[in-house]
Amino acid sequence: MLKLYNTLTRKKEEFKPLSKSGLVKMYSCGPTVYNYAHIGNMRTYIFMDILRRTLKFEGYKLKGVMNITDVGHLTSDGDTGEDKMQQAAEKLQKSPYEIAEIVTVEFFKDLARLNIGKPEIIVKATDHIADMLDYVIKLCELGYGYETPDGIYFDIAKFPGYGKLSGIKLDEQKAGARVEVNEYKRNASDFALWKKAEPEHIMQWDSPWGKGYPGWHIECSAMSSKYLGKLFDIHTGGVDHIPIHHENEIAQSEALEGKKTVNTWMHGEFMLFDNGKMSKSLGNTYRVAELAEKGYPPMAFRFFCLNAHYRKRLNFTFEGLAASATAYERLLAGLYQHKISAERAPKAVLDKYAADFSAAISDDLNIPYALGLLFTMLKESKSKDIYALALRFDGVFALDLDKAAASGVAAPENFDIPEEITALAEKRVKAKALKDFAGADALRKEIADKGYTVIDVPGGYKINK
Ligand code: AMP
Ligand code: ZN
Repeated sequence: MLKLYNTLTRKKEEFKPLSKSGLVKMYSCGPTVYNYAHIGNMRTYIFMDILRRTLKFEGYKLKGVMNITDVGHLTSDGDTGEDKMQQAAEKLQKSPYEIAEIVTVEFFKDLARLNIGKPEIIVKATDHIADMLDYVIKLCELGYGYETPDGIYFDIAKFPGYGKLSGIKLDEQKAGARVEVNEYKRNASDFALWKKAEPEHIMQWDSPWGKGYPGWHIECSAMSSKYLGKLFDIHTGGVDHIPIHHENEIAQSEALEGKKTVNTWMHGEFMLFDNGKMSKSLGNTYRVAELAEKGYPPMAFRFFCLNAHYRKRLNFTFEGLAASATAYERLLAGLYQHKISAERAPKAVLDKYAADFSAAISDDLNIPYALGLLFTMLKESKSKDIYALALRFDGVFALDLDKAAASGVAAPENFDIPEEITALAEKRVKAKALKDFAGADALRKEIADKGYTVIDVPGGYKINK
């Protein structure tokens, strides 16, 4: 039985898909593409990926939707501040569409590097302005939306359930500094459904209220209902979305439909950097590609993330990542011993591991426990059956376990390292094994002449640019 933690009910619940066919409908808040995604963002998408893979492992089919926010967010979580897309466009002297295109391409490259499966349907906000306008007009007709001199706002006093996801009481929110004062709003926490644009605002569209642009919450309500219907199974995002973005999404969607629209709300905890906040706006972020340049392949980072439960904060440090890289290499080297074995394992042993694995991932995605099981399993006597079972588990881990090599480095590629260089490095491993140290040194020099360095690490080697 698959159990998932629902942020809304604050309980682990048995997962029951809406469709009898076993098709799970899931919406995941995607990236804002004014700046490259950082490894903190990637942690949230790894969580989404693990959920998708677990559902598949347990026999479900998926219809996943992810949005690409290519319309600017304002710099505050509320509706004030500068447009982030506009800031980036001005800084880089490019159009917002150009920036969005460049960043989106890189985002999908990062997903691929980390073996994060792409949701079935990817939707861009700028392709759905008409759907959003339609949504805002309907909310106004129902009496939830009202016009002010600077936009159309949602009247939260009309939606008694406001705050149920985060558990924040309205008076507390009013007292807090989060909500900025806007004299035209009826309630302090009312949020923009549509903003009227100043003439110099960079992205704007025609609307019944003149030129303007959508508020950022309406995007997800409009696109999730368009592709997944009035009620769908799972909605995911990072924990920062709970108090504002998802609270507002619930208000909009439930106001329009008159009933709940999402069964299970799931949120990934944050990745911290040196125990502090990591964010694009603070500028203290790393990209997957930057980790690779420092010699940490994407799989080491994925492994690092999988060692923490998705509902626990994870503090990123290079020491922690280095320890993960070593443990990952040990895992591959250990697995290789099973890969090359011709022995068989008793069925009872295999069945026990398979059952324990399924129980772990079904317990609200307990991946750290499942990884522990994998390490224990590798201690069994060497057999090709253990290797085959590990590959089955890798349907969920997605750690490239099929590339286990003698050296303990995923073969053949070391992220973005040309095959020619990896081949030379493998030749060097063989030379060393044959105690041909002069040959090994010559190979190291050949690699260096081509612009790469090869470093020996426990159980294998690493290549850096
Ligand atoms: P954004 O592009 O800023 O909208 O963020 C994309 C996703 O990354 C959202 O689901 C956020 O909740 C999530 N996110 C942002 N910062 C972090 C972080 N430090 N750790 C984990 N997830 C994050
Ligand atoms: Zn969203």
